[in-house]
Amino acid sequence: MDRRNPGAGREQDLVGWGRYPRARGVEVRSEDLESITRGASLCRGLGRAYGDAALPARGAAPLAATPLADRLLAFDPETGVLRAEAGVSLETLNRLLLPRGWFTPVTPGTQFVTLGGMVAADVHGKNHHVAGCFGEHVTALRMRVADGRVLEVTDESEPELFRATLGGMGLTGHVLEVEVRLERVSSPWIWRERTRHPDLASVLEALEAASAEWPMTMAWIDTTSRGRALGRGVVIVGRWAEPDEAPAQPPQPKRRFEVPPLPGLMNRSTIRALNAAYWSVMRPGAGIEHPESFFYPLDMLRHWNRGYGRRGFVQYQVVLPRAGDHAELLERFQRLGGASFVTVLKDCGEAGRGTLSWPKPGTSLALDVPMRGDATQRLVDDLNEFAVERGGRIYLAKDALTRPEHFRAMYPRLDEWQAVRRKWDPEGVLQSAQSQRLLGDAP
Ligand SMILES: Cc1cc2nc3c(=O)[nH]c(=O)nc-3n(C[C@H](O)[C@H](O)[C@H](O)COP(=O)(O)OP(=O)(O)OC[C@H]3O[C@@H](n4cnc5c(N)ncnc54)[C@H](O)[C@@H]3O)c2cc1C
Repeated sequence: MDRRNPGAGREQDLVGWGRYPRARGVEVRSEDLESITRGASLCRGLGRAYGDAALPARGAAPLAATPLADRLLAFDPETGVLRAEAGVSLETLNRLLLPRGWFTPVTPGTQFVTLGGMVAADVHGKNHHVAGCFGEHVTALRMRVADGRVLEVTDESEPELFRATLGGMGLTGHVLEVEVRLERVSSPWIWRERTRHPDLASVLEALEAASAEWPMTMAWIDTTSRGRALGRGVVIVGRWAEPDEAPAQPPQPKRRFEVPPLPGLMNRSTIRALNAAYWSVMRPGAGIEHPESFFYPLDMLRHWNRGYGRRGFVQYQVVLPRAGDHAELLERFQRLGGASFVTVLKDCGEAGRGTLSWPKPGTSLALDVPMRGDATQRLVDDLNEFAVERGGRIYLAKDALTRPEHFRAMYPRLDEWQAVRRKWDPEGVLQSAQSQRLLGDAP
């Protein structure tokens, strides 16, 4: 068995990272990316999208699993331009390139993602307010489009297709290779500072002030505290350390702990206890931090998604333009019985090149919600009603439950994107479970 891709080439059950929903007996093809994408309905990377973005559409052609396509093809140390197959993981890139002074200019909160997945979701990081999304740094894509052709696609050669693919969730073509300009870093270590704030308003204020000064910012908030302490939290900022501040040795990979497959550990009481414990250990301070614990704290716990049990969980991530609206959204969340532990705020800058890319100016709030069937659907519906009213927008890479009407109201460029998609795929070959749910793609 191939340990990096167990079950490749035969039928398997698939889930997103939230373990909800589930697709059974899916035929997944996995070997040479160029051959397996021929006639495939969708690519799947490391399955870190939370909901149904990387799950197969009903009745569609097989999926192409990309993680075995992991060759680095070219790297120019003068310009930092890297070309690699789309299945290369960010973990591999970090392991090889960070000790040599290079890093991807944008990283999501896990390094267990592929380059293809980073393009398809047009991922953002703690530096969105200065660096934009990953797609801003992509210089070219090699793609197989729905009619079978393999094309080199750039913002100059095919601007519509290029931009529709950044954040297009794999629905405009299969990405075979990615060319991206890496960032030179002053050292492979991070200088990090942390401050604590007693309520949501002061967290938001501190986050905004920090983003004017720091390249990387985010906040964690307590979603279970109430009254005046609602949304108390910790603002965390960072920058690459200067060589004279950093340890002489490059960081070694961090030890990871395995979460056993126990029945759901995460319920309202444990979530409340975890919030209180995290608040008390997150003391203010500053110092050098390992890049893995700064960027990828959750990666320290392998299979942490099992903590939500068999029913899984959904992540609700929304960007709201006005700071005052976050408290109202959080109050609704609490009223409807919501409780979340991994709750993160991030500053979003201007929208980027991707036609369907998610970020827009404002502050993003991400909540993890245990899956409780209809009650969770009602919760997401309610939050989405509110988000639409306040000009908010949910992130497709996290979504499992949004309804088409809410999605359409949040994405004003949807028709423009669909027109490009249809131009390149008139037969509707490329589909996902998410595109059937949200875009009405026919099974
Ligand atoms: C703990 C955690 C933290 C995260 N933090 C962030 C964050 O901070 N910011 C952020 O933006 N995202 C974040 N994410 C989401 C994650 O970055 C995205 O979902 C990313 O797309 C996952 O990459 P993947 O390789 O696992 O892709 P998958 O989950 O396998 O697929 C995701 C989408 O990409 C498409 N796709 C994958 N490969 C290709 C290809 N070669 N060609 C065309 N389409 C392709 C799939 O069809 C699917 O639509 C986080 C996820 C987790 C689990």
